[in-house]
Formats: sequence, structure tokens, C-alpha cells
Amino acid sequence: MTYEVLARKWRPSLFEDVVGQQHVTRTLSNAISAGRLAHAYLFVGPRGIGKTSLARIFAQAINCESGPTATPCGTCHSCREIATGSNLDVLEIDGASNNRVEEVRDLRENVKFLPARGRYKLYIIDEVHMLSTAAFNALLKTLEEPPPHVKFIFATTEPQKILPTILSRCQRFDLRRITVADIVERLRTIAAAETITASDDALAAVARAAEGSLRDAVSSLDQLRAFKGDAIEEDDVLSVFGLVSRKTLQTLAGAIFEGDVRQIIEIVHELDANGKDMQRLLIEMLEHFRNVLVMHYAPDGFDAGDLLDDQMDVLRDQAKRSDPERLLRITDLLVESEPRLRYALSRRTLLETTLIRCARAAATVSIDQIIERLDALGIPPAHNTEASNPPCATSTTATASVPPTETAPPVTAGTRPASTAEPVSKKKTADTVADAADVCRRLTDNWHAIVEHVAVSAPMAKSALLDTRPVAFADGKLTIGLDPEFADGLNRLENPRIQSALQRTLAQHVGRGPSLTFRLMTEQERAAMAPHAVADSDSQGSATEPRPAAADATPPQVSAPASHPPSPRSAAGLSVWQDEPLVRNTLEIFQGTIVEVRS
Ligand SMILES: [Zn+2]
Repeated sequence: MTYEVLARKWRPSLFEDVVGQQHVTRTLSNAISAGRLAHAYLFVGPRGIGKTSLARIFAQAINCESGPTATPCGTCHSCREIATGSNLDVLEIDGASNNRVEEVRDLRENVKFLPARGRYKLYIIDEVHMLSTAAFNALLKTLEEPPPHVKFIFATTEPQKILPTILSRCQRFDLRRITVADIVERLRTIAAAETITASDDALAAVARAAEGSLRDAVSSLDQLRAFKGDAIEEDDVLSVFGLVSRKTLQTLAGAIFEGDVRQIIEIVHELDANGKDMQRLLIEMLEHFRNVLVMHYAPDGFDAGDLLDDQMDVLRDQAKRSDPERLLRITDLLVESEPRLRYALSRRTLLETTLIRCARAAATVSIDQIIERLDALGIPPAHNTEASNPPCATSTTATASVPPTETAPPVTAGTRPASTAEPVSKKKTADTVADAADVCRRLTDNWHAIVEHVAVSAPMAKSALLDTRPVAFADGKLTIGLDPEFADGLNRLENPRIQSALQRTLAQHVGRGPSLTFRLMTEQERAAMAPHAVADSDSQGSATEPRPAAADATPPQVSAPASHPPSPRSAAGLSVWQDEPLVRNTLEIFQGTIVEVRS
């Protein structure tokens, strides 16, 4: 007797056997029971989730000798013929290889004839999106006026490629990916019936590898049985499919949270040496961080899926220790690397550098945390102190109270501010500065929402703008600073589509779209995360030279009182800074040292 593969042997024969698609099976069962059949159905969804199985069960249901019935007998002549694919009234057509117009014309000719034996003639066209446009048009004629004895079932993985005129004549069902828990449940039933001993870990790993496709999962079980006999362990599954254990994934994530680059490199090296698939590793890391994020926001509603209790504990712990901003940065970095990894010459190197960048993103301290820690120490945030810079301070007030400042040169074209700027009237300066400060403050407060809004019309803008902040606004020019940590993202910000989408959104906040300049944040802007500073070109700009708006943005003001500005580069100057209470506390909080004081 020939061996029948498990996927075929365990193909569902009743609607109730179809796993994870109750929304479809219930509707179809009711329609059959009530005798309200549509002419054409469209099943949409990824491969291996039951589209063709559903079509066959539907065929049996409408043509069963004791039917039409939602529970076909499976034993009558018609049911058995349909199960073996030899029924003359049920025609399964592969859209990929029969996509020419001639073939559809043949179909149209055949449609006219009555069914040979059953009640209905059923055409099941798989991968229907592969039909040529001419073939679609030919098919449309039949769909417009189908004979009463003809039904169509179309199956596709890519519904967007089907002509709208066809779509509108079908009842559409979107099939879901099958959850890991459902797949494990089904595998357990099959394993028990086939006397295969497999641990829950092993079945969970099989389900994980199948990515929502039950057929793939059952086929994998077959493959594992051939490889390992009737006793299957998790390690067998991991090694056959190049998967990484949950434990290793969690350890790797832990190293990223800790910023332990050495451990990251060691783990990646070991996995690579064991022939693990780097692409899959990246996807699984992404899924892990997604789980941490979900656990952070909705711990009660978290679906454990195939995670064991101790793995859930680790996840809870990581969710507690990390903050969403960093997690989003990490997931963004991983998402960006995914397509690049596919074509990378050395996948291991690319993955390593990506994970190291993730570790650095995980170690960045957010402005909220700084304020929180300062608050805990009873130190008012810098903008509340007289000698310091308000969130949108103007250069006039700021320069009055602090030593002269110098910033990193902007990346976009521009020149340094001229020191011999002509003074302008104080009244005008004050008004302009107040307006600019207000605009700047509003933009910064709403920056996150602005970025989200921009992302609606330009999806790639979201990750490009993730590490940016407005740093200065003056004369209708907005300067946006990028975290130098992600300096290589600066080119992406020059993308005209991102810029115009950003301008459209900004126009809603500032009346009309400001002109945009992008540059790296200065170390001071970044380190103290002063959200932005307003440059007032009137007070310092040269009459002849155009000047980038933020060229004179002031550094964060952890400054000495203006009455005794220290000489910044001397050792004595350094110690003056070090003795400042705010600086001293900041150094303590972050266990930092002053490397350089710029003036
Ligand atoms: Zn039957």
C-alpha cells in the first residue's frame, strides 16, 4: 500500500474540521442549509490555510447525494469522487498555468452543458489572480449571466490583482492565518492518531516555523517523522528548520537591553556557526520585541501563544524594564534591515551591526527620563531656572544669560553667523522672538502627532523622522535636528516626498508650510535633549549672508550664572562647570564626566 502523506490524509472533510476559519464555515453552512447560494465565491488568504479544502467541502456539500447539506456524508459516490478529484462536475483549474484567454473561452463553452451527474457544475479556480486581463474579461461574460447550474469558487493570495468588475460579482471571504495555538492543537490530534510522540515544545516550534499555514505544519511533521522516527523533540525541530530557541531569542534581547555588545556578537556568531537562518532570526527578534511592546501596553490581554510560563516571566521582566520609545526604535531598526538582509553579501555582518545599533538605541535616555530623574532629586527642569534656557528660548534672552555659544555646523548649505550683525529694534526683535518661540513650542509639543500624520501620506517618513526634533524656527524657516546616533538617516530626510508631506502637515500648525532645513543635532541638544531653541535671525543675521536658522541655537543650559562665566577651555573653567549644582547632579545621575565644554 502506498504511503499517504499526512497533509493529504488529514485534509478536513467537513466544515467543522477546518481549523481557525469559523467565520467562513458558519456563513457557508448557513447559506447551504438555507438554499441561498451565490454564483461565485472568492476565498482570500495566504497559502496553506484551507482555501482549497473549503472549496472541496463546499463541492461535496452541494452535490452530496443526500444533500444539499452542510454536512456532506463523505461516503456517497459523489463525495468520494470529489475527495479524489475525479468528479466530472467539479473542475479544479490552476489559474497560474491555465491563464490564457483561449482556456477561459473553452470554459465558457463547457459552462453551457448541464452537470453530468450532480446538481451543480462547480469550477474551482486556484490562484485566480494569475489570469491574463483578456482571460478575466472572458470570464466576466460568464459571471454576468451564469447558468443556474454553475457555481464558481476562486481562490487567491493576491486579491488586489483581480479586476474590480470580477470582485464585485463574488462573495468574498478573507481567511485568517491560523494561530500557533490552533495549529498546535491540530498537530497534537494528528500526532496522537499517528502514534508520533512529540513534546509540546516541539509542536510549538513546528507551528512557529509554519507561520500560520496548517498545511506546512502538517507537512513538517511528516518530514520530522522521516528524519527522527516517531519521537520528536524541540531540538530536532530547531535543527531541521534552522530555527532559534525561544530561550536564545530572549537572551539575545536581554543583551540588547543591557547594551552588552560582546554577548550579542557571541550569540550571533554561535547561531551562524550552527547554520541558523539569519533572516528568520531577524524576523523572530522582531516578533520578540513586538511581544515585549504588547506586554508593556496590554499585559492582561497578551496572548501567550506558544510561550511557556518561564518564557512569559522573562517577557514580563523585559517589558517592565524597557520603555516603549526605545522599543519602537528597535523595531524600526529591525524592520528597516529586513529587506536589506535579503540581498546582503554577509547576512551575519548586517545582522550584527543591526543588533548593535538596536543595543545603542536601547541605551539612549529619553528627555522624559531625564526630567523624571531630575524631579526625583528635587531639581527643577532647566527651563524653570532663571539662568537657563526656556524650551523655546530665543537667542536674545539666552545669550544674555550664558557664555557665548558655538554649535556643530549644519549639514545643509549655509554659513556661520556673522559676528558683526547689525542690531535691530528691540521691539521688533521681542515680537518676532515671542511668535517664533510659540510656534516652536507648539511644534515640539505636537511633534509625535505631526510625524504620525505625515506617515499617513508618506509611510516611509515615519522611520525617517523618528529620531528628529524641531531645533529652531525663525523667519518661516524650520530647522529639524536629527539625533547624531542615527546620522546615516540624514540623506533619507532629503527625500522630496517626505519633505512635501511634512510641509503639508506643518502648514496646519503654522499657517503655511515653512521651508525646511535638516541637520544633525549638536551634542548639547542631544545630550540634554533640549527640545529646540529658537534662532532669531534678526538679532544676529548678516544683511548680506543667508544664515541657516539654527546656526546660533544655544546649547542646553546647564550653565553657570551669567555674572561669572568661566573660561571654558581652561582647567579652571572646567572645575567651575563641575561645581555647578545642576551639572554636578546631572553627572551623578548619568555617571558621566565632562569631556569638553564648548563656548
Ligand atoms: Zn455524500
